[in-house]
Amino acid sequence: MKVMTKLFGTNGIRGIVNEDMNCDLALGIGKAWGTYLRKTTDRPKVAIGTDARLSNHMLKNAISAGFLATGCDVVDVGLVPTPTLQYTVKEKDFDSGVIITSSHNPPEFNGIKGVASDGTEFSKDVEEEIEKIYFAENYGLASWSDVGKLTTWDGAIDLYINGILKAVDADLIKDKKFHVVLDCGNGAGCVLTPILLKKLGCKITELYCELDGMFPGHNSEPLPENLQDLIHKVPEVGADVGAAQDGDADRAIFVDEKGNYIWGDKSLALGAKYATKENNGGINVTPVTTSSCFKDVVEEYGGSVIDTMVGSPVVARVMMEKNAVFGGEENGGLIFPEMQYCRDSAMSIAKILEIMAKENKKLSELIDDIPKYEVFKTKMPCPNDKKEIVMKTLANQTKDDSSVTKVDETDGVKLYLKDGWVLMRPSGTEPIFRVYSESKDKNRAEELARTYKKLAEKIIQNQ
Ligand code: MG
Repeated sequence: MKVMTKLFGTNGIRGIVNEDMNCDLALGIGKAWGTYLRKTTDRPKVAIGTDARLSNHMLKNAISAGFLATGCDVVDVGLVPTPTLQYTVKEKDFDSGVIITSSHNPPEFNGIKGVASDGTEFSKDVEEEIEKIYFAENYGLASWSDVGKLTTWDGAIDLYINGILKAVDADLIKDKKFHVVLDCGNGAGCVLTPILLKKLGCKITELYCELDGMFPGHNSEPLPENLQDLIHKVPEVGADVGAAQDGDADRAIFVDEKGNYIWGDKSLALGAKYATKENNGGINVTPVTTSSCFKDVVEEYGGSVIDTMVGSPVVARVMMEKNAVFGGEENGGLIFPEMQYCRDSAMSIAKILEIMAKENKKLSELIDDIPKYEVFKTKMPCPNDKKEIVMKTLANQTKDDSSVTKVDETDGVKLYLKDGWVLMRPSGTEPIFRVYSESKDKNRAEELARTYKKLAEKIIQNQ
């Protein structure tokens, strides 16, 4: 029996190939996952896809063998973005989906991410069930005559592109003949984003739109330092907008026509603003870490916001339960329920173009209309076994603090004050608290973080 640890992190299982992420692990996970599916389904059908990484074939074949051994049928949909695999699972009635990807990590990494039958990312409960079976090696192998079959299907890309074209006002976008600089970062977005933009009548200037698992263009995390070429190219060619995707194309980041990098909190708020406006109100869902500009624009159009724990699967599930009009994370992970309940970069790009077309405004003008806040982030040490008591004490002490208007314990402790907020959130992996604060004034944001960090330090000392 293996020693039980945590395999699934925030974004599935990830590791360096042939070190912690190897064939044996993938095979075992395939058998455990297949065993889990067989508990409720007689002959589960599993879709599998990969991003552009060099180790994809190795891991795809190993995990597939595990599914086949436990009596699941596997359909290989090829090299696709994560949201394309998710859409395929939902639309083609698969029982589960697997994407072999390590998102924006360096090329030596790879990973395995699970998708439920509704196309959403696996919940923590399902991951824990699979982990339990894996560590106990309690596999339900099929009899020799009952092992699964492996087939391929090449319709996922068309299915997904058509889904997006139906979910946006394609004719309106086409009329505008937008010029887009597209930076796929050599990632999975290359296989379809240029095709989608052509179908939307756009003129495209391509940057790093050739698949390459070594990511030669730039590091595939869409941060300003990695998108310098895009930032320069947009004004140079006089384009309307620049768009960049991360390695598995679930997240998108934008650059306005002047070459300004747009942080994810702004594009997220823009998405929320227009979803709320179009629906004459409605619920929007986002984690507690999100900037207040999100709530400001939603409330301006008569909508409401539900704050959740950090993590896109949580946001997606709350959106489904509450029939939300929009949701997402401020790292470029926008979720549009009219398409599907997951972060979706190609849909985000199409939607931003639709907003620009409908409002007849430049992207810089649309972003200028979003309220501006100053964000401050820091961290502080705290032993893991003291995190819980520190959060409880902090929440209790500040309930009597007249300057604190609301205490929110959704994920860590978030204290609202008249002119800002501060959030102390325990790291899941390190003995630290992450401290976030926000205010319209930069110095005040820093002051808020410092004040409540000091209070938390005092609490730790007294424990
Ligand atoms: Mg990603």
